[in-house]
Order: sequence, then structure tokens, then C-alpha cells
Amino acid sequence: MADRPLHPETLALHAGWRADPSTGAVAPPIYQTTSYQFRDTGHAADLFALRELGNIYTRIGNPTTAILEDRLAAMEGGAAGIALASGQAASAYAVQTLARAGDNIVSSTDLYGGTYNLFANTLRDQGIETRFVDPTDPDAFARATDERTRAYYAETLPNPKLVVCPIAEIAAIGKQFGIPLIVDNTAAPLIARPFDHGAAIIVYSTTKYIGGHGTSIGGMVIDGGNFDWAANPARQPALNTPDPSYHGAIWTEAAKPIGPVAYALRLRTVLLRDLGAALSPFNAFQLLQGVETLPLRMARHCQNALEVVDYLAGCDSVASIVHPSRQKGQALENATRYLPGGFGSLVGFELKGGRAAGERFINTLQLFYHVANIGDARSLAIHPASTTHSQLGPEEQLAAGVSEGYVRLSVGLEHIDDIVADLQQAMDAAR
Ligand code: PLP
Repeated sequence: MADRPLHPETLALHAGWRADPSTGAVAPPIYQTTSYQFRDTGHAADLFALRELGNIYTRIGNPTTAILEDRLAAMEGGAAGIALASGQAASAYAVQTLARAGDNIVSSTDLYGGTYNLFANTLRDQGIETRFVDPTDPDAFARATDERTRAYYAETLPNPKLVVCPIAEIAAIGKQFGIPLIVDNTAAPLIARPFDHGAAIIVYSTTKYIGGHGTSIGGMVIDGGNFDWAANPARQPALNTPDPSYHGAIWTEAAKPIGPVAYALRLRTVLLRDLGAALSPFNAFQLLQGVETLPLRMARHCQNALEVVDYLAGCDSVASIVHPSRQKGQALENATRYLPGGFGSLVGFELKGGRAAGERFINTLQLFYHVANIGDARSLAIHPASTTHSQLGPEEQLAAGVSEGYVRLSVGLEHIDDIVADLQQAMDAAR
């Protein structure tokens, strides 16, 4: 379209699609189909053997979904995207594309609870061990690495701690060993750019900001196309040895005619084919509607959250505030370096009145929704000690950054005066 790279704001509206060639329709159509007719047996054989790329069956790929994949990959500066049915599926496949039974990954301790469970229990039951380390000490990733380590994993802006991950430092350590860094960027789309700092793979729960409307569960894995999987073949056997499940394909070889997408190719043609967590074309369409306004929404989310932090700073009943702008030293440096586009919509605070105050606060909110979600256009709130973190003991809760009086907000796009008025009346009730 242009002879220079387009900005993410422009790509959010244009990448991956330009008017339907047969009807002129401007909006992407919903290709609500399971299958695609082959021209003849030669065409079918070429598609199955990956000599030609094209549509076979919607579990493996769909034209509406492909627009979403191409758009997000372009916005991130990546080589290929694979849409999945949920963020959970995206995290699982992102790891399983590289790690098999007997292998391990090294992960940050600061994870969404669902990801923690997946790694600590479900993947462990499948023979994949996760070694959890403190992300503020990047060398801990090196210390936990052995010859069976296949990937590093971290979240850009993990909640509830909201301490930004030192992406470049961890990615650089991984590169020395031939180990890619997978970054879950769910809480920081557009405001953080993990590929610019050496991350190899980005994972999203598109359920959150990417959609923004709260109508559709979805996930995405984006291959940065920037990692040399063949440089250290023994480190990445899943991509460098013949795959018996696909005609003995060696994915680093098979990808050569297509581009630097060996990882994406294995994820789609093996994991998605065999495990089947495909995004529905309807949800892909819904998520595309969200992406179009993502740049505007992220800017407003960040601005409203900063104003909420200002308001909370003046409240007597607030003991402490958790937000990147309130951090000091290395944490603030990392926040400024890795979140140049703003600090996101998540704000945490601790009420002096402990659990009773936290519960009263949540129960009195009128505008904020009380939900276990983040990144909706509407403002959302939760009391983690009685919900998302209730299975943990008091000490584990504190280690996770959750005290009894802790409240998490995902600040939405309403007028800031209405947001603050709702917080104020709940604050009065919680006193
Ligand atoms: N990653 C993060 C950071 C999340 O917050 C979530 C969900 O809350 C997920 C992954 C899982 O995504 P989903 O709910 O779409 O499966």
C-alpha cells in the first residue's frame, strides 16, 4: 500500500484486508464455512503437502480468521499469527509447539492464575516441567536452564503486581542458549512492543483489550520471525528433526519457501490440527471490530487509569496504590522503557479496612462491573482475596501481591468524572 512501514493505528484498520474482490464489500466478510472445495486432486495434494498454502478446513485456517491473524501480526511487526479459541489455548500451544514430555520451560512467577495452573499442573501432568523464577532477576532464568529447556515465558505487565518484565534482559540470556522468550502481552497491546526488545513469540488473550467489547473469547500466538531456530538444532528438536506426524517434515526446512515461520507452521499444522482449539470465524469478525479502535482505546484506558491513580492518592482510606507510575528505581525504569505507549488500565489499591472494607467497596460499586475480567471498554473491579486468589493461603496471597483489603480495577472508557464518582461513593461506604 505504502512504500514505507505503516503505523499501528493505520494497520489496525487496513492490514490483512482490502475490499472483497467479488462484491466490493469493505467490511471483512464472515466466512462461516467448515470446508473449502479443492479445484482438483492435484490442488488438494499440493495443499496437504504444503507445496501450496490455502484453505483446507476451518479447524486449521479460515479466511476471516486469517485477516485477524495478519492484522495483529502486522501491528506487532511479527511474521505470522495463529488465532486460537482462547488465551489459555494460546499459552498452551505456544509452549507445546517446542516442549515435549521430558522437556522443561523456565517461567516468570508473575503469571495470570490460569497460566500458572496450566504450567504447574496440567503441563506437568503431560511431562513438561515448569521452573518458576523471579522475573526481576533475569539471571535466574539462566540458572534454571538445562539442556532440556525449550522456552522462557513471562508476562509484560503481570497483575496484580504490575511490575513490568525486563524483556530485553531475559530475551538476551535466552538467545545465548538458543532459547526463545515467549511474552504474554495481553495487558499491554500496542503500549508495549515485545519484538522490539528481542522476544521471539507473543501470546494474547484477545478476549481482553484486543476485542474490548467483552463479547468474544479468543487467543493469538504471533511468531516474530526473528529467532534462528536452526542455529542450535539440539536445543529445538521439535523444529529441527523429522516430524512423523507430518510426512517427516523438518519445520525449519519446510518453512524456507514461505518465510521465517517454522514455529508458526508447526503450531498450526500440528498443534491446531491435532488439539483443535480453533477460533470461530464469527469471533474472529467480532475481534476484528475491536482491533479497529484498539489504538484509541488504549490511549484512553491509560489516561483514565492515571487519573484514577491521582484520585486514589488523595483518599484517606487507601493504604497503598499499585500502578507502574507509583514505582521507583528499576521497576519504574522498566515500566518507562517497556511501556512507552502508557501504563495500561490496571490499577490496584489496598484499603486500610482490610477484607471487610474490600468486600463492602466491591458490593457498593454501581458503574464498575464486578467481574473476573480485564480490558473491557467498561470499568471492571474485583476483590482478588475472595475470588481469583481465594485458593491461596495468606502468605501465598501476599507473595502474589494480594492483601485482604486489595482491590483490582480495570479502568474503562467512561467519562473520568463518572468513574471517580462511582469510586468515591464506594469508598464512602467502605469506610
Ligand atoms: N493471559 C492473561 C494475562 C490473562 O489475563 C488471561 C485471562 O484473564 C489469559 C491469559 C487467558 O485468556 P482467556 O481467558 O482468553 O483464555
